[in-house]
Amino acid sequence: MPDDSSREALSAASSVSRLKGVGPARERSLREAGVESIRDLLLTLPIRYEDRRLVTELGEVRGEGTYTVAGRLSGVSTVRLYRRRMTLVRATLEAGEASLPVAWFNRPYLGGSLNAEEEYLLHGRVRLRGQVLELLNPSLESRAKAGLGNRVVPVYPALGTVGPTLVRNLIGAALADGVLETVVETVPRALLERNHLPNLSSALHALQAPPEDSDVEQLNLRSTPSHARLVYGELLRHQAELALARRRVRDLRKSHTYVSLEQLRRTITARLPFRLTASQEKVLDEILGDLEGPAPMQRLLQGDVGCGKTVVAGVALAAAAENRLQAVLMAPTELLAEQHYRSLIELLGDGYGLRLVTSATGNTGVRDDLRSGRAAIAVGTHALLQDAVDFQRLGLVVVDEQHRFGVDQRRNLLDKGRRPDLLVMTATPIPRSLAMTLYGDLSLSVIDELPPGRVPVKTRVVPEEHRREAYLQVKEELDRGNRAFIVLPLIEESERVEAAAVEGLGRRLADRLSSYRPLVLHGRMAPEEKSATMEAFAKGDAQVLIATTLVEVGVDVSDATTMVIESAERFGLAQLHQLRGRVGRGERGSTCIAVHGRLTDDARRRLEIFETTTDGFALAEADLEIRGPGDLLGTRQSGVSNLRITDLAIHREWIETARRDARELVRQGSAEGASFLKRLEAETRRAAPLAGA
Ligand code: ADP
Ligand code: MG
Repeated sequence: MPDDSSREALSAASSVSRLKGVGPARERSLREAGVESIRDLLLTLPIRYEDRRLVTELGEVRGEGTYTVAGRLSGVSTVRLYRRRMTLVRATLEAGEASLPVAWFNRPYLGGSLNAEEEYLLHGRVRLRGQVLELLNPSLESRAKAGLGNRVVPVYPALGTVGPTLVRNLIGAALADGVLETVVETVPRALLERNHLPNLSSALHALQAPPEDSDVEQLNLRSTPSHARLVYGELLRHQAELALARRRVRDLRKSHTYVSLEQLRRTITARLPFRLTASQEKVLDEILGDLEGPAPMQRLLQGDVGCGKTVVAGVALAAAAENRLQAVLMAPTELLAEQHYRSLIELLGDGYGLRLVTSATGNTGVRDDLRSGRAAIAVGTHALLQDAVDFQRLGLVVVDEQHRFGVDQRRNLLDKGRRPDLLVMTATPIPRSLAMTLYGDLSLSVIDELPPGRVPVKTRVVPEEHRREAYLQVKEELDRGNRAFIVLPLIEESERVEAAAVEGLGRRLADRLSSYRPLVLHGRMAPEEKSATMEAFAKGDAQVLIATTLVEVGVDVSDATTMVIESAERFGLAQLHQLRGRVGRGERGSTCIAVHGRLTDDARRRLEIFETTTDGFALAEADLEIRGPGDLLGTRQSGVSNLRITDLAIHREWIETARRDARELVRQGSAEGASFLKRLEAETRRAAPLAGA
């Protein structure tokens, strides 16, 4: 901070170091937490609000719940529980005749600071412990100091080493200094009016110093108009960035062109062993349209497991090869890459010089073929990203299960060609609203039907007490000559996680099913061993495959009819659905048995939905509601993590609005639009993450 500025009045743009109590150490810690200016600090939203407007008489506390109570504390004791590495402070809260035990965990210095003469206000949860009600870990303040007004109390996250109470005090100090008036509005006024949103400083005022008559429930649900203002601002910026990125690509010109695509399409699809579904044809229209266009394709192909994405990609790869271009298909695992390689040979024949590139294959010869252009199509894993892998005229890049790759990896592959077309694929059905935030820079194609003749998988959810019966059913299937997967979440049993492991329950099941030649597969095995195992199962040499979620993605054994998922409560809906997608690929009816241990409420809801729904999109919607988007699909690398205030599970209705407005702004292409983008970035960039969001 330059010296002369310290004499200026405090404003939102000032460094946090201008606030009393922020020395160099705290300044550094705040900066690491993304807070440099006072504005950044003001954009640190409370993680929750405590309603302390209503003080309950101590004698009226009769059941579990959240209360604000007042009284004096007596009998304070501090105990160290060495074995559990914690301290426990106990006291009794007394008011008149009434009393209530209070306990704090891990507040070792609290006991020494309590004053028996002082009247305190305590706020927290009352729990029943045995027969006795007890107030657990309440917040606490001196009643005299608490004063009267502002009894809706914001509770902040810690920012690095700066604890929640200090964060609250710093924000309070900034507000008292009138800093809110200097907060610059970033969203164009017309857009605020159009969407009936408050301006930034009044939104921040309502969130940081909620007035006495606030709706605390709405505050805690993060669905007040003030929250909406911040969310909208964030989404508007995000969508505007996506729209700009999209326009940049649209303005590019490819160096390659395609000829006679329609005719090629007919010859290539005529060679396939089946007819494409209407949905596959429609998506192929879209893809080939992009290939023909002047700008590089930027398309996301979405479709449930087994809907036939690989086939569609194969047609595009062949079309590129027929146009004397090279094309590449990248998959996240060796298993998948090998499988793609085999099925492409089956679908397209071996006329295109198909090559497999994985870390397991010795690649020198393959690399020569790709560099010289002798080989037209490469299928592989991350191994494709190595510098040593070069192409002569790379025109098309296809990335399967693209959420498993980072943006940089995608970029790296694209850079091996001159503005190649890009098709990314995912089997994770993403609700449209989420797809727009994740992939707003891509065009979206969806395959929404399965190949004909597929029989929906029957799903049974079974508590582990009934495991034996469940496996009787599995044996019946095996006796008919069918094949079964058994999936377990862990490789080895662990003391910390209560879940089944391949090298535990898995081995015991293998013993019990030994007459069906079971094989075991997990990530700690050597690559050759893994492929050999997978192959033996695919060929039918083994009837049972006992594995971790390695088999999750894409594995195609079309006559497997049974999928058992052990410790099913450990999996998210999307993952359960992926696993179930491993069976039901042939025309035989298939079964999925989800065996579970003890259930939380969320897990119970997940399994109920899983049992009754086979539609991937419906499941994805439900998953989004239960778990929020973070867990849904490894979204970390995809841009959603830039959304700090927005919770897509709560605020999704704003996505569409923000997208419409952002596109309008970008389309107008005015100087105003550009400066808006810049300012908006400063506003949202450093908003601190919400704890637990
Ligand atoms: P995805 O990659 O979307 O999971 P795949 O492309 O691997 O799906 O296809 C799954 C299975 O369905 C494969 O065995 C494939 O040969 C087969 N298949 C794909 N499209 C059709 C179709 N139109 N008719 C019949 N079978 C199909
Ligand atoms: Mg696939």
